[in-house]
Amino acid sequence: MYDYDLLVVGSANADLVIGVERRPAAGETVLGGDLAVHPGGKGANQAVAAARLGAATALLARVGDDGHGRLLLDSLRTAGVDTVGVLVGGAPTGVALITVDPSGDNSIVVSPGANSRLTPGDVRAATSLFQASRVVSAQLEIPLETVVEVVRALAPGSRFVLNPSPPRELPVEVLAACDPLIVNEHEARVVLGDACVSEDPADWARLLLAKGPRSVVVTLGAQGALVCDRSGVTRVPSVRVEAVDTTGAGDAFTAALAWKLGTGAAPAEAAAYGARVGAAAVTRRGAQQSYPTAAEVEAL
Ligand code: ATP
Repeated sequence: MYDYDLLVVGSANADLVIGVERRPAAGETVLGGDLAVHPGGKGANQAVAAARLGAATALLARVGDDGHGRLLLDSLRTAGVDTVGVLVGGAPTGVALITVDPSGDNSIVVSPGANSRLTPGDVRAATSLFQASRVVSAQLEIPLETVVEVVRALAPGSRFVLNPSPPRELPVEVLAACDPLIVNEHEARVVLGDACVSEDPADWARLLLAKGPRSVVVTLGAQGALVCDRSGVTRVPSVRVEAVDTTGAGDAFTAALAWKLGTGAAPAEAAAYGARVGAAAVTRRGAQQSYPTAAEVEAL
C-alpha cells in the first residue's frame, strides 16, 4: 500500500508580476502597475494540480526561510499537498521576476535560489517518501544530479514521470526510467538535439522513444497530445475551450496524467484526462489558481 498517489520532486518559486507599458532599456527606469505575487515553480504547480484533483500528493522541494517560502507553503497546504518533504533554508526562495507588456508578452528573470540547493543528499534523506509513493514526477528546475538521484531512489514497482523543462540533454540513466517522458515541441527539439530530423511530432515521439524511455508523450497545446510506446503512436485530441491564459497548462496536464497512470489507467486514457485538466486550466488566469477540481473536470 502506498501513502501517496504522487510524489513531486521539483521547484517552488514566487512569481512577481508587474504590468508595464514597455520594458526599460539599459540604464532606464520605467513605472509599472501594482505588483502581484503568485505561488509558482513547476514542482509546486504540479503538486497543487494533483492535490486539487483529489490525489494524495507530497512535494519534495526547498524554499527559503522568508516570506516567499511561507507563501508557497501556505498555498501548498491550502491545496491539500503534504509538505513534510518541503525543506526550508539554505538560500532565498526561488523567484521569477516577470514583466508583462500590453500585448501580453512576458520577459522573465529567474533566480533559482533554494531550488538550486535541493541536493542528491536531500533525496537520499527522503527515502521513506519514495518508498511510500506510487508515482514520482520531476522537472528540471532543480539540479540535474538531484534528478539522477531521484531515479535511483525510486521504490521497486513505482513509476517515474519526467517533464524535462527547462530542456537539456538527458543522461541515459534518467531517460531509461521515464514512463513517460513528457515534452512540448521546444523540449522535444532540445532533448533530441541532432536526432531531430523531422517536422512531424509523431516522428519526434518515435525518435525520443528510441533514446530509451518506456513511453513518450508530446503535448501540442490546443492540438492535444501524442502518446507513444512500443505499440505505436496514439493521438489524444484536446478539449475545445475558450483559452484565456495558458500559463501552467503543461504542469496541470502532467500532474493529472501521472496521477491517472498510477490508478491503472491506460496511457491514452490518462493523457485524455490530462488534456481535460489542461483545457480547464487555460480557461482561467494564472497557474495554480487556474487548476480545476475533479468535479470541475467532470463538468467540462
Ligand atoms: P506550459 O509550458 O505553458 O505550461 P506546455 O507547452 O508544456 O505548457 P501545452 O502543450 O501548451 O504544454 O499544454 C498541455 C496540454 O494542455 C495540451 O496537450 C492540451 O491537452 C492542453 N491545452 C493546452 N492549451 C490548450 C488550449 N488552448 N485548448 C485546449 N487544451 C489545451
